[in-house]
Amino acid sequence: MQYTSTRNNSLSVSSSEAIAAGISSEGGLFVPAEIPHVTPEFIEALVPMTYIERARAVLSLWLTDYTKEELDAYTEGAYGSGFSSDAVAPTVSVGGNLNILELWHGPTCAFKDMALQLLPYLLTGAAKRVSGGRETVILVATSGDTGKAALEGFKDVEGTRILVFYPEDGVSPMQKLQMTTQAGKNVGVCAIYGNFDDAQTGVKRIFTDKLVKEKLSAHNMAFSSANSINWGRLVPQIVYYFSAYADMIKLGKIKNGEKLNFTVPTGNFGNILAAYYAREMGLPVNKLICASNANNVLTEFLTTGHYNRNRPFFTTVSPSMDILISSNLERLLWHLSGCDSDKINELYDSLAKTGEFTVNGEILEKLGALFAAGSCDDRGTKETISRVFKEHNYLCDTHTAVGVSVYADYVSATGDSTPTVIASTASPYKFSKAVLEAVTNGKEPCGDEFSMVDELEKLTGTCAPEQLKNLKNATVRFDKVVKKEDMENAVYSLLGIE
Ligand SMILES: *Cc1c(COP(=O)(O)O)cnc(C)c1O
Repeated sequence: MQYTSTRNNSLSVSSSEAIAAGISSEGGLFVPAEIPHVTPEFIEALVPMTYIERARAVLSLWLTDYTKEELDAYTEGAYGSGFSSDAVAPTVSVGGNLNILELWHGPTCAFKDMALQLLPYLLTGAAKRVSGGRETVILVATSGDTGKAALEGFKDVEGTRILVFYPEDGVSPMQKLQMTTQAGKNVGVCAIYGNFDDAQTGVKRIFTDKLVKEKLSAHNMAFSSANSINWGRLVPQIVYYFSAYADMIKLGKIKNGEKLNFTVPTGNFGNILAAYYAREMGLPVNKLICASNANNVLTEFLTTGHYNRNRPFFTTVSPSMDILISSNLERLLWHLSGCDSDKINELYDSLAKTGEFTVNGEILEKLGALFAAGSCDDRGTKETISRVFKEHNYLCDTHTAVGVSVYADYVSATGDSTPTVIASTASPYKFSKAVLEAVTNGKEPCGDEFSMVDELEKLTGTCAPEQLKNLKNATVRFDKVVKKEDMENAVYSLLGIE
């Protein structure tokens, strides 16, 4: 199976090459030139399987230049231990019509672990084949969860270094502590003055800068990306949509062949794009419901066809979705435009120059058939956490609550009774302050992060993940903050190659 670039259709690379490079040299994203298809028998066979077995079945369809032995070892390494649930990503029915796919049982308590526990294996495997022994430098821009998950995935992985940039005031206190206390010999963390889009734009600029590339090359290093622009981030995420479907059959909620909706709290459009690929592969999916917070650029786009990032940026209680440039949308638009890279270049030139673009009627129609979209502000988010806890005794985090709220609006507006699975993307204990406020009906929480964790445990009878509680006594190793223009220098300094 070959991959090409959203901005250069004449390119053809293997999955290893796409994963090793992260982003195509002209700035496009790697996309599959064709999409593998599954049969109902393939799906039926997943039902009795473990998560690892399901992962092997799905991944082998996409990563055709990896051997079976490689994929067997990688999936075992990624999902064999390190997840606090035997099911890895369980689908739980919490009551009413709420079915929740819990994607946060990994080491960093957010859904990013689902991909980032596997990516280091995929990348080092790829690097062996394509980059001839050079050290791989993973550069990450994070809105909070990717950074930590990437640090955990790559720490002390031989042949790799990992550098993470995050917005100084754009992550939760728990997220910040998780990163600034990171252990490992090959890790670096740096804050920037700016928001996530500034960090992401800076990282993309560094990736495509020839001078930086030459300098790294002189030190026998090459960049790659652990952001969801890397195909190796997306492909592990396709697995859990198949897994959730199989679990819904197991739970007796659907029969094989019946359609499901997926509701996905969305920021960079990576998680929901994986659901799109699952659907294109033949998983019976009705609607993909895209849930945004107050940064509702995607809600507007999916309903009008007009993408406009010229709008106020809101810092919300669901910070991992505080994004106005949803990178992975480019991949979807490439597919929906009939693989037309000229069209993508035109749209993204416009986005770079004017901050907006509008797609044609044909694409808008396809978007409408595939997606529903909605948004939920902070107040609605907290009300939803409170309501779900009261009604179902289920505590969800702020991002998941955005999904639950948008799904409820969708059902009211459409009457659609298709069984639905909502992706739950983080442990509530990563966002204790907002969650505590929600379950105490708006009382301003007092005390530090860890006393809030204690109080939330007491009030709800749930348990905080050990790895979050242990941060209380961890030492801060990284406290540098730089201007966004100084990110290049920060990279040199973190790598020790000034
Ligand atoms: C990253 C993240 C999201 C958004 O996922 P995308 O793939 O960027 O759309 C949602 N919730 C949480 C908790 C996250 O960490």
